[in-house]
Amino acid sequence: MNSIEITQKLKQKARELGFELCGATAAVPPGNYSSFLGWLQKGYAGEMNYLERRKEERGNPQSLLPGAKSVFCVGLSYNPQPQHYPLLENHPVSCYAWGRDYHEVLGEKLEALAGYLCGELVPGARAKAYVDTGPVLERSYAAAAGLGWTGKNTLLLNKTFGSFLFLGEILTDVELGPDEPVEDLCKTCTACLDACPTGALEEPGLLNAVKCISYLTLEHRSALPPGSALHGYLAGCDLCQTACPYNTHAPAGREAAFQPRPEVLALTREKASQMSEADFKAFTKDSALERIKYPMWVRNTGARVDSQNE
Ligand code: SF4
Ligand code: SF4
Repeated sequence: MNSIEITQKLKQKARELGFELCGATAAVPPGNYSSFLGWLQKGYAGEMNYLERRKEERGNPQSLLPGAKSVFCVGLSYNPQPQHYPLLENHPVSCYAWGRDYHEVLGEKLEALAGYLCGELVPGARAKAYVDTGPVLERSYAAAAGLGWTGKNTLLLNKTFGSFLFLGEILTDVELGPDEPVEDLCKTCTACLDACPTGALEEPGLLNAVKCISYLTLEHRSALPPGSALHGYLAGCDLCQTACPYNTHAPAGREAAFQPRPEVLALTREKASQMSEADFKAFTKDSALERIKYPMWVRNTGARVDSQNE
């Protein structure tokens, strides 16, 4: 099989596994690497020290897999079902964490895909799969592979499927037929910048994580900066995505594992603030929220809801 045939078969398998989006690009340094370094230097990554620690690897896919030739990128939608849209307006947990932990769901699918590539399509080939946690600038590769463009809210955005997408990638020494990037369709829209209540989107495509509710609730381990308002959120923030016109028209995600769990549907801020550590562990089990520590959850429940409360 030539590289085009291998790529076509890999894409077909990715679709069978449920991925709405897939595409390939070359395993070269990501196009936005120097912007990433500049962003780190400004201190906009806050306490996400792991980004600084492994920054060289992010600029060099060969350091992750010597001989790597291609990155095969996938996207899996978690766009909520229409009956759950009202939750997007007032639920204290961002919809990315309503269902099962996406690291596991995507990880299982990507392992199956990598197994197919290295076991059946090109026996003996090498591949490494990543979902969010590896030192890979995944949005940059996904954009290069034509899965969408980088929106002004810094997220990967697809014309049909919007931005409620989990991304993953397989780095491989197999030569794959590359896809072309797509046109940036943000144009004159500024809805995400207008919707951000904290000014974290300082310019189109420039996120100061230190001001971002998503970062503050999920990644920032120490006390919240004085005056922080979480605008009703305890974990994550969806405001710059719900404002995006491409999400309004996107179809609901098909992955059953991302449907809201009953305990998520029943969660209120009051219940959240009364959770013991054991309650919290039971609530977050098998969800992406397992990565938040209980003291952070308690801290978040005690924070100001919004700037009107000053
Ligand atoms: S996640 Fe929330 S706080 Fe962060 S940039 Fe988007 S709207 Fe602003
Ligand atoms: S809200 Fe508008 S500017 Fe922001 S990502 Fe969506 S289309 Fe682009």
